[in-house]
Amino acid sequence: MLWSLLKIVLFVVLIAAATIGAGMIMEADGGVRIAVGAQEFNLGPLQAILALMALVAAVWLAIKVVNFIVALVHFLNGDETAISRYFDRNRERRGYEALADGLMALASGEEKLAMTKAARAERFLHRPELTSLITAQAAEMSGDKRKAEKMYKRLLADERTRFVGIRGIMKQKLEEGDTEVAMKLAEKAFALKPRHAETGDILLALQATQNDWAGARKTIGSKVRTGALPRDVGRRRDAVLALQEAKDVFRDGNSIRAREAAIEANKMSPDLIPAAVLASTSYLEQDNPRFATRVLSKAWQVQPHPDLAAAFAAIAPDETPKERLKRFKHLTKHHKDHPETRMLLAELHIAAGQYDEARKALGDLVETAPTQRTLTLMAAIERGEGGDDASVRGWLTKAVTASRGEQWVCEKCNHVHIDWTPVCDNCGAFDTLSWVVPSEGDVRRGGTEMLPLLVDPPAAETEAPEPEAPSETPEAEIIEAGEEGGEDAASVGDEKPAN
Ligand SMILES: [Zn+2]
Repeated sequence: MLWSLLKIVLFVVLIAAATIGAGMIMEADGGVRIAVGAQEFNLGPLQAILALMALVAAVWLAIKVVNFIVALVHFLNGDETAISRYFDRNRERRGYEALADGLMALASGEEKLAMTKAARAERFLHRPELTSLITAQAAEMSGDKRKAEKMYKRLLADERTRFVGIRGIMKQKLEEGDTEVAMKLAEKAFALKPRHAETGDILLALQATQNDWAGARKTIGSKVRTGALPRDVGRRRDAVLALQEAKDVFRDGNSIRAREAAIEANKMSPDLIPAAVLASTSYLEQDNPRFATRVLSKAWQVQPHPDLAAAFAAIAPDETPKERLKRFKHLTKHHKDHPETRMLLAELHIAAGQYDEARKALGDLVETAPTQRTLTLMAAIERGEGGDDASVRGWLTKAVTASRGEQWVCEKCNHVHIDWTPVCDNCGAFDTLSWVVPSEGDVRRGGTEMLPLLVDPPAAETEAPEPEAPSETPEAEIIEAGEEGGEDAASVGDEKPAN
């Protein structure tokens, strides 16, 4: 209020001053005389001031016009000027807005909108590595595989986006089941980014399913080198692959090379049971039972396993049960309380007719770990000791419904495998099988397979108490532990090379 009043007062004062000033100038004598050639201009004082003001205005205008002309020339030349900068910024802003909208649409599952926004962003931004990616993802979401592939191919052009493009096409090929092309793409992608864990795993799985063991070993090697895989895990996986390589060479009939490969695999990972079994077979072929004994005993020290026992039996197939019992001390002196060791001992004693010892070896396993195998062994002991049919049958009846104990179970999908394999049959994961009791009652191993040793040579035909007869081991023999042919079956596949 006061300020408004002040302004009015100030305005009145200024007007008054100007009027008085103008009056004084008009009344003043003299002026400005400008002579241009013969022409002469006489300006009064007021006129002189007005002329000066006009001159200043003219000069200011002239400078502005010249600046504008210079800017225009630059603009027409394509140079960056305020004008072009202004338009650029505007375009960029709209481009990024469209890009952001596209990403949002993609995340919320509106693939059509995402594609439209991506196309708009591309018009403004000219950043195909960003916009093609959105379009490709949106196209994939909407099921437009051809468009997605086209976009991924566009990404191949730029070095920065090549990996994304290859990976996109690779995933498409995987989905289509074109593993051959997918593998080539995986190789390329892996070469670009050896530290990319997912690509390495995909490549490895593909190589494993295509039995390209040598290629897979290379992949493992570079994964270890780049630090994407811990050294010990790498070593173990390399051993698994070396083992598979050896198996293939065995199949091809090149037994000398295969033996070496098997022994190498065993050396890399002495705890890898199938590798130990194969190495033992290789040593036996070289007439080297001492080394065969050593590798099996070493593996047994890590983890007792029926396959190891079966391979150990194969070292001296013709020995008597007593000799066998003695020779098996190499294994049974380790892990004395391990169920596997106790079952093995029980089995060996049954074969030697020492039922009391067998019962002692088995101990309380029938109560603490009642599996088909322990219960069948118990039936054999019962029969051997002259127990009546009813009690023998009692044990066998229990065995039918009992757990089958430890099996090769995939840690990833819990699929149960009859034999060890490097790649899970169900989920395709690599080296995930471990010898454990499956969590669910998904049982595969039959009773006859559970007892790995050929305990008693005079074999008699018996029925084994198993719901599903496994046909995988035709060499599995069912033998009779007691005097007469009966249900008391202790059984064995004699030497059973894994796989
Ligand atoms: Zn699996």
